Amino acid sequence: MNSENTVMYSYKCMHRPPSPGAVPKDGLVDVKDFDMRDESGCYGEVVYNRALSNKEVCDYELEPLKEKPKNMMFINAKKSDVDNAVKRIICTKGFGENCDCDACKAYDNGVNPDVLIIDCKNDELGVSDFRDKLKHFYFKSINMSANKVLLIDGADELSDKKQNALLKFIEDYNDKAVLIAMAGEEKRVLKTVRSRVFVKRYSSILAYTDFCEYCKDKAIDKANIYYLLTDGDVNEIKSVNNVEIYSNLILAVAGKNVADYFNLLHISKEKDKEVIVNDRSSILMCYRLIRNVLLDCFLGKMNKEHILTVEGTVWKTKELANKIVELDLEIEKVRNTNSYKAKEFQSFSINLFS
Ligand SMILES: [Zn+2]
Repeated sequence: MNSENTVMYSYKCMHRPPSPGAVPKDGLVDVKDFDMRDESGCYGEVVYNRALSNKEVCDYELEPLKEKPKNMMFINAKKSDVDNAVKRIICTKGFGENCDCDACKAYDNGVNPDVLIIDCKNDELGVSDFRDKLKHFYFKSINMSANKVLLIDGADELSDKKQNALLKFIEDYNDKAVLIAMAGEEKRVLKTVRSRVFVKRYSSILAYTDFCEYCKDKAIDKANIYYLLTDGDVNEIKSVNNVEIYSNLILAVAGKNVADYFNLLHISKEKDKEVIVNDRSSILMCYRLIRNVLLDCFLGKMNKEHILTVEGTVWKTKELANKIVELDLEIEKVRNTNSYKAKEFQSFSINLFS
């Protein structure tokens, strides 16, 4: 059975016993009537196979019953998935998504004092400072949320020593804060840490739009170029650096090796055959990539060495603007035709580079 289907949602009846009509019917799978109110003033519990809407919870005067949140590690997740998980833990109303309680609002604005975010890529702390930071957070009292959350972005980037420090907190002070960790490469997280968190895995190979969103979450510029160079595998992003991107593209743009260029951009390896390329979007993406390189070069946004490579092998700077205009016209042409052939792509590219 799909684990998504086994999730149950429980609610407390705080104002009246769970009689028919007193609770929503849709998705109701269990009713626990306590006969009399328990020490918290609760008349009973109702269990659903779906999450009730905020409106239903308010209309029927129910209260979400929260289980103790688990320490979790998200592999290759988008930031939005992780944000929702964090909000479900800190929310004082028990909703999480689309909630306007103070805790959720503060988190959305990046100012919730009950969430400590450690961005491991920009974390310069020594091990003992790291330990002190965790200690301070674990032992300070809760300000506005239902729970405190330690959010580690890039757990796989932490050194083994820091991971061991983290492990100590998960083991010894589990009742004080919930750990939510994000990681790219699962295997770079110590086994001892992994065994103590609930691991939720997302595929590392993403569709183009998901890939772009992932890059946006991670503040990675030029997602389209990364996508082409990694085949959409987010685990491969780290292996591609900016210099490499430009080196590859400039060599390609320089037209020194058209076959490489075609391979790089996954257009068509059969360069001598007249193959109709149905996937216009990949050609468009390719032309936009070249435009990107030319524009960066024109605006002087590339490093000097790369500008010299482009100027030296292809064009003088003053010609760049004309090339960009040529490209724009071709992009318009591809947009307005149903069959743009690989051969057209090839001859346009070669002419552009000659
Ligand atoms: Zn909330």
